[in-house]
Amino acid sequence: MADNIRKIIQDRKVHYLTGLPNAGGYIDEVHGRIIIGTIKDYTAFFFNLKGFGNVNQRYGIATADDIVVRFADKVKEFLDEDEVLGHLGGDNFVALVRKERKEKFCRLLNGIEVTFNKDGREEKVKIPSTIGLWDIEEDFEDPGEAISRPSIALQHAKHILHIPVVSVTEEMLKRVAVQKTVLEQYQSALQNKEFMVYYQPKVDSRNNMLVGAEGLVRWKHDGQMVSPGIFIPPLEQNGEIVMLDYYVLKRACEDIKRWLEQGLEPVTISVNFSRKDLLDPDLAENIDRIIINSGIDKKYIEVELTETVDEQEHGELARFIDNLYDRGIMTAIDDFGAGYSSLATLREFQVHTLKIDRSFINTPEFSWKDEIILRDIIHMAQGLRMEVVTEGVERQDQINFINKVGCYVIQGFFYDRPLPVEEFEDRLKNKIYPKKKE
Ligand code: C2E
Ligand code: CA
Ligand code: CA
Repeated sequence: MADNIRKIIQDRKVHYLTGLPNAGGYIDEVHGRIIIGTIKDYTAFFFNLKGFGNVNQRYGIATADDIVVRFADKVKEFLDEDEVLGHLGGDNFVALVRKERKEKFCRLLNGIEVTFNKDGREEKVKIPSTIGLWDIEEDFEDPGEAISRPSIALQHAKHILHIPVVSVTEEMLKRVAVQKTVLEQYQSALQNKEFMVYYQPKVDSRNNMLVGAEGLVRWKHDGQMVSPGIFIPPLEQNGEIVMLDYYVLKRACEDIKRWLEQGLEPVTISVNFSRKDLLDPDLAENIDRIIINSGIDKKYIEVELTETVDEQEHGELARFIDNLYDRGIMTAIDDFGAGYSSLATLREFQVHTLKIDRSFINTPEFSWKDEIILRDIIHMAQGLRMEVVTEGVERQDQINFINKVGCYVIQGFFYDRPLPVEEFEDRLKNKIYPKKKE
């Protein structure tokens, strides 16, 4: 279609394919209902067609377009006069449906059968949707909310909850607002040195000796400590995490250097790198340079990464680990056993340390299966000359169990939480933990 014609149609605020209101047209519809005061009668929907990529691939774009049109017609048929269906583009639709009919509408979208023509033959395809919705209970001014709020619910449905229908909650809205703030303030936070490194000790449970620590980032923002669970996911999504990981490594190197200057013997500090960091082709080289420039021995640093199920990422990870190995930098596989690729990881990665995921011991009781699986993993890892650490240990019975299956180095609240650097220095001064009563 010629651009000028498309433009004219866009100005008319309808989608060129389905003739339904596009974003602009839909917003006008919402706005009108806000003005006349009926908007709270409705549930706002945002839905898209599950597996539509497959339909595109299988039938080609022209037929897929035809299917979208027929799909839209069927949805439209269901709607009452005062209800609205909008087509934002691709397979993204929005709708205002009266609250008392929302369940019925969800049932309809659960699977719409579309009949279409393919090479002169009639074919049928059943198209289910994934749905985000917002029951409009309060007044609001920005009509765009009728798109953005259910869209947040849809993102949750697709990427977090993996279920077909999700209603937006206050918590989701809050999380999105926090993520937005994080991204806006990240650069200035880096410059203002608002990020700090806490250290969580690793202890050999045989003699209660401090043997290492993991550096964990914290953000001191407006006088409050923000945990990484809040700010790391948006930074990862945005591909901006790598600057933070370099920063944490630098800070850890500086701390180690200071301890050495003060006559304190450091322990190896492991630093987390996100798998997203692998997108930086110079990752290994940059890590190497940061350590070398700081002037400390490489034996004091270990790089932690989680395993992956993605084949391409698996290859990149293996190359990265080899690269670090060649440079004499130790690596650890984090959250081992939480993913699915564990055996391949053991076989292919030249890592120094395996960190057993806390889900293995995060259980009130241990079954004979747990025991067999863990014993064998630990045995294999040790046979491959890897160190094994278990994390998330909180109770004595977990230590007993983990010792029984052959692992002795423990990281967890049982010994210590992640500590601010001054407190961790006390642990470095006296590396022996007092024996706890059983
Ligand atoms: P992780 O690497 O698996 O780190 C261990 C997390 O488990 C830490 O949470 C720690 O406080 C917590 N933990 C340790 N022992 C126990 C225990 O006994 N019980 C319980 N319930 N939890 C325990 P934290 O510090 O909130 O870090 C969360 C995650 O954030 C980390 O998980 C890591 O994936 C990520 N992260 C932290 N710092 C960095 C960083 O500098 N860079 C990157 N890329 N990720 C980081
Ligand atoms: Ca870690
Ligand atoms: Ca971990």
